[in-house]
Amino acid sequence: MVFPTLSSIPIHKILTCRILFSDLRPLPDMKPEVDTACDVLLIGHGLAGATLASALEQAGKKVLIIDQPLPGAASQVASGMWNPLTFRLLLKSWRVDELLPAALSFYTSESTRLGINMLQNLEILRVFPDEAADQRWKERLLDPAYAAYLSPDKPTLLPQNIDTKAKQGLVQQAGWLNLPAYLQADSAMRLANGSLLEQPFSLSDVHFSTQGLRWHNFQAQQLVLCRGQFERQDRWFNWLPTKPAQGDILTLRIPDIKLEQIYNAGFFILPLGNDTYRLGATYEWEQLEPGPTAAGKAELLTKFEAVYSGTYELLNHQGGIRPTVADRRPLLGLHPEQARLGIFNGLGTKGVMVAPYFALQFAKFLCGEGQIEDEVNIKRFKKRYEQHTGSRWNDVAL
Ligand SMILES: Cc1cc2nc3c(=O)[nH]c(=O)nc-3n(C[C@H](O)[C@H](O)[C@H](O)COP(=O)(O)OP(=O)(O)OC[C@H]3O[C@@H](n4cnc5c(N)ncnc54)[C@H](O)[C@@H]3O)c2cc1C
Repeated sequence: MVFPTLSSIPIHKILTCRILFSDLRPLPDMKPEVDTACDVLLIGHGLAGATLASALEQAGKKVLIIDQPLPGAASQVASGMWNPLTFRLLLKSWRVDELLPAALSFYTSESTRLGINMLQNLEILRVFPDEAADQRWKERLLDPAYAAYLSPDKPTLLPQNIDTKAKQGLVQQAGWLNLPAYLQADSAMRLANGSLLEQPFSLSDVHFSTQGLRWHNFQAQQLVLCRGQFERQDRWFNWLPTKPAQGDILTLRIPDIKLEQIYNAGFFILPLGNDTYRLGATYEWEQLEPGPTAAGKAELLTKFEAVYSGTYELLNHQGGIRPTVADRRPLLGLHPEQARLGIFNGLGTKGVMVAPYFALQFAKFLCGEGQIEDEVNIKRFKKRYEQHTGSRWNDVAL
């Protein structure tokens, strides 16, 4: 990797950098001795941090992750489903034809690496809310572009004690990733081999220099923030148009439902096995409670009880905040004032399907071997950055 020398940087950029990164140059008190050196320091061990770490390691980089488990972290509560369709207008999910195969192949190799079974394919039993939805389904069935995702068969294995009078269709190539199990297994392996430290991180403890960067006694060439919705609390990237969405999710024991697909009728019931199910999820855009909310629980149970007539037991209630972006695209890129500082965020409501493809793309970029697509590059918010900070956008390079 070639880094620019200070003399090759125009003076106005140096002045801006000195304001924003007062410690751009080695500080007088910088200790020469370093405990550990890595290529990339990643902050956050949610879905973004875990997938990017693995993608970087596959590319031969040495990675150190810093994570402090915090309430509100999305990956710890997510149900991990992937759905190749968006139901509102019954369209294919964004770039599903390329994102889904990449995701399945990535998680399959992660399952092998970690020695756990964390992926399950399951059809979605979609209950149509109205006649128009049924009509759209019939139209899509005739469209070859949708052939892989819509089953031409009528659902036969209907759940018990649930109202199935409305018309339904079956979605293929759907399923769920056991995200908490993935992160737990990855954490255990990383804590044992020293590539994960569980402690808080603050950017004010980072010293950037022309040779690299230092955080306490750790030295790296690159720092990438994977802090999900927590990122907006820090000033470095708070100009990005995030639009976080809080969500509640319940775990129930439902002995009398015998559901063998994911049931979706505006809310979902996901079978976990042993008569336990996840029921979700709510979307709250205004009140961003980091944990579960009474209103979210009431909303879910009301919807559930409207269609289910048997008994159930509430086992767990969780809540978290999705790192969603105004334009619903992920956020990848380097800070316009500091090439050593990057971000991987904005995985949104479909993080499971989106994360691997872009983790691999970002890893390649950080290895100097590829580009970040314009559609996901944070540079798409250049104007916003300039208005927010009053600084000019710099096209920094690695
Ligand atoms: C209720 C709910 C249901 C969902 N269901 C689905 C679903 O079915 N399918 C799907 O694809 N997506 C789903 N999502 C979305 C999905 O969870 C997210 O896209 C994804 O988990 C985001 O991962 P992340 O790593 O960006 O953020 P997070 O998971 O929030 O991870 C950020 C990490 O950074 C750490 N961190 C933050 N600040 C610091 C700091 N200063 N120092 C150290 N560590 C720090 C946090 O503790 C955390 O571990 C759901 C989300 C919610 C809330």
